[in-house]
Amino acid sequence: AATFDAAALRADFPILQQQVNGHPLVYLDSGATSQKPRQVLQAEYDFLTRSNAAVHRGAHTLAAEATDLFEDARTAVARFVGALPEQLVWTAGATLGLNLVAYAIGNATVGRGAPASARFALTAGDEIVTTEIEHHANLIPWQELAARTGATLRHIPVHDDGTLDLDAAAGIIGERTRIVAFTHVSNVLGIVNPVAEIVSLAQAVGALTVLDACQSAPHLPLDLPALGVDLAVFSGHKMLGPYGVGGLYGRSEILEALPPFLTGGSMITTVTLDEAGYLPPPQRFEAGTQPIGPAIGLAAAVSYLQDAGLESVHAHEVRLAERMRAGLVEIPGIRLLGDAEGVERVGLWAFDVEGVHAHDAGQFLDAQGIAVRVGHHCAAPLHRRFGMTASVRASLALYNTESDVDAFLDAVSGIRTYFGVNA
Ligand code: PMP
Repeated sequence: AATFDAAALRADFPILQQQVNGHPLVYLDSGATSQKPRQVLQAEYDFLTRSNAAVHRGAHTLAAEATDLFEDARTAVARFVGALPEQLVWTAGATLGLNLVAYAIGNATVGRGAPASARFALTAGDEIVTTEIEHHANLIPWQELAARTGATLRHIPVHDDGTLDLDAAAGIIGERTRIVAFTHVSNVLGIVNPVAEIVSLAQAVGALTVLDACQSAPHLPLDLPALGVDLAVFSGHKMLGPYGVGGLYGRSEILEALPPFLTGGSMITTVTLDEAGYLPPPQRFEAGTQPIGPAIGLAAAVSYLQDAGLESVHAHEVRLAERMRAGLVEIPGIRLLGDAEGVERVGLWAFDVEGVHAHDAGQFLDAQGIAVRVGHHCAAPLHRRFGMTASVRASLALYNTESDVDAFLDAVSGIRTYFGVNA
């Protein structure tokens, strides 16, 4: 960790080498989307300029090359999360992955494949459990599934310090629970949630577990099979990769039993005018032409992260986040969200600036070249729980440096003075 050289890595990120509003760009919005190293752009460029073709079943050379590159990318990204290639379904991103799962379960309830996948079917009285800290992407699909099936939605509450209330979880997850969907790391709190504890509560009652790994995949060594979850999602664009591609991991036994969500080309065996047979996973869940170039770009991104070393990346980001916290707590009027003691964290802090709206604070920072996110960060219920409507969030990635953090702290310390709020 001591040898981790973020300054050297920055040379791979052309976008970081610019001035914004007359200041060197300080990019602290990687929680929303990461920047992409030139290796990722090059991988997509090489594919598009040498091998571009639709994959599978093509008789020509480029189609075979494209298929190999695409399937090699699947193997690389699957391995990155500890999985086998057939356990990785390409999606357009985490939102699509979570909707895929929720709609597939809905199809197990009412779809043509329902008899074969009855184990997933939901009825009135069944319960779907999420948490109070979820991103809307891991909340609304379950609200919709509950509305369509008559199931009831319940939520694991969060303590004031941002940790999940596991005692309450033990009371909520019970005989009626069929699904437990929760985030590995909240995009607002940055706390690594106790996956093993929640999985064991769910397993004790035979509930399906769905993990949102968006905010952990770029920042920690991740072994999804070892975490014991049934299904998990992540987004390529948050982990140095392209937009429009992400992954859905599933335990083989689960993916094999789950009916499809989207249907159409590339996911079928035989088709008649009246019915169709479906391929095994992962193809069963990959209807239509897939994001081939982005998948190849994502493989380059995970290779970049692996070369940097996820342990080192994590240690680097945690060290910067600790520096950030130490500075923020010294600034009058700053209230951190999720400042729990003794928890594992990733490198992000969301906070309130007393007397200043988050949007004003964000604009003030932007004028100094500092990019942060403001608003509810697609976690409105979480903000409501903490008595706020918006916060400022600074989120780190492997390419951030101490000088980024120091420039940020320097600017934050001037916010309340600038807006005439007494310290
Ligand atoms: N879950 C979490 C925790 C996130 O941070 C995000 C992105 N902000 C998502 C889900 C949704 O990801 P995407 O928009 O890439 O589908």
